[in-house]
Amino acid sequence: MLSPSFLAHLRTLLPAHCVLNEREDLRPFESDGLAAYRNTPDVVVLPETEAQVAAILELCHAHRVAVVARGAGTGLSAGALPVDGAVLLVLAKLNRIKAIDPLARTAVVEPGVRNLAISEAAAAYNLYYAPDPSSQIACSIGGNVAENSGGVHCLKYGLTVHNIAKLRAWTVDGKLLEIGSDALDAPGYDLLALLTGSEGMLAVITEVTVKLLPRPERAQVVLAAFDDVAKAGAAVGNIIAAGVVPAGLEMMDRLAIQAAEAFVHAGYPMAEALLLCEVDGVNEEVSADIYTVRQVLEASGATEIRTADSEEQRLRFWAGRKAAFPAVGRLAPDYYCMDGTIPRAQLPHVLQRIGALSAEFGLAVANVFHAGDGNLHPLILFDANTPGELERAEDFGGRILELCVEAGGTITGEHGVGLEKIKQMCAQFAAPELTRFHDVKAAFDPERLLNPGKAVPELHRCAEWGAMHVHAGQLPHPELPRF
Ligand SMILES: Cc1cc2nc3c(=O)[nH]c(=O)nc-3n(C[C@H](O)[C@H](O)[C@H](O)COP(=O)(O)OP(=O)(O)OC[C@H]3O[C@@H](n4cnc5c(N)ncnc54)[C@H](O)[C@@H]3O)c2cc1C
Repeated sequence: MLSPSFLAHLRTLLPAHCVLNEREDLRPFESDGLAAYRNTPDVVVLPETEAQVAAILELCHAHRVAVVARGAGTGLSAGALPVDGAVLLVLAKLNRIKAIDPLARTAVVEPGVRNLAISEAAAAYNLYYAPDPSSQIACSIGGNVAENSGGVHCLKYGLTVHNIAKLRAWTVDGKLLEIGSDALDAPGYDLLALLTGSEGMLAVITEVTVKLLPRPERAQVVLAAFDDVAKAGAAVGNIIAAGVVPAGLEMMDRLAIQAAEAFVHAGYPMAEALLLCEVDGVNEEVSADIYTVRQVLEASGATEIRTADSEEQRLRFWAGRKAAFPAVGRLAPDYYCMDGTIPRAQLPHVLQRIGALSAEFGLAVANVFHAGDGNLHPLILFDANTPGELERAEDFGGRILELCVEAGGTITGEHGVGLEKIKQMCAQFAAPELTRFHDVKAAFDPERLLNPGKAVPELHRCAEWGAMHVHAGQLPHPELPRF
């Protein structure tokens, strides 16, 4: 519970309409995109200026009150889930595009600017911002930085971390950090990379300088059908090995194809798996790449190959993929979207294992994913009204994440760890690594007031969960402090 004196002080920092603590005002903020996890916040603040952000942090620090930053709340790992006794600091009103420099090809934006709004504004200069999470119509650039978000085009153009140049961020005690540089390199430790993907645990971002790219002269997509998911998985590696770096390389399995086709009628052939491979660039380069991609797909055993021959057809091919998540939502009352990344070569093996786990848990799975990145999004279908099904879906999801680790991959591709994957962090990392993470956290936030309990598990959690091997009652590395 927050004290009345703290709340009274908070209200002096912001206009009245920027502080919410009536129950009906707080309800919309009780979860992020992972709606299975809910917690009503104690208070929500929506600052309109950077100075207000700094003042809020300073006040919270003085009162030892925790702060959870939130952008648009589209995160899928409960990273922006409210914490008891904390302030939910929503950056959505800081939504100005401050400058676009077409010569430097950069834009300076506030954290609440929507991802897509950057490309819309840059279009006037024939430029765009490349990372394109599927949530780009809604998610904020601050949230993208905090999650190091990816998207269809990240295979060729990189993740958020590769597409930003500078940040302004505020420490837990309200001090300004100016990180990065307008030049290609920056001296000192790479704090820009450290803050990217730090899930609101190290600092609050209030300004992002993003890199912009010229819009490609031409983009073309090839669709390929396969009678076997493993063959489609192998084709992904074959395309890259042939020297083509597609702008996007996406895969859907039978269930996802059926759902998407019934929803948007994209004209997909029915198959065990579909690959969509987009190439972009200058005209001649695209023609050469399309030729190579078709050859590789044929040699990889595709049963049907179609090349979009108009912009309209290209968009229709993509329409099914882009609508696949809501389409799968029509197959069952609920689905649980997982997110793990594996080395591309492991795709056939891992997809086959997910199929086996689906039978073991008695829950269907639709696979729609960024195949080129090896970033899987198994959608586990369940019915939350059936007692025990949510828990079964969560256990199944946990097994998929562990499978990703066994295959040499990671428990998160682009959705962060948040609260959702915190147990599997114990499978991914050993105690010495987790300890270093805690050291980094302590260097920024010794009292652990920023987004407490998220992203990095305390070591006792790993021990209790059983992911840390305890032999004969002896913890490994007993010399390390247990948090
Ligand atoms: C339908 C759908 C599709 C999606 N597709 C993708 C996809 O293709 N790729 C992908 O990467 N993600 C995807 N996501 C997940 C989500 O959209 C991204 O993680 C996005 O970057 C979150 O942005 P947000 O503004 O909503 O952040 P929030 O959900 O509000 O917050 C996410 C995290 O960032 C922190 N945070 C937010 N703003 C700040 C700030 N200014 N300073 C410090 N910390 C901050 C929060 O504390 C939290 O830990 C999808 C989500 C949905 C619902």
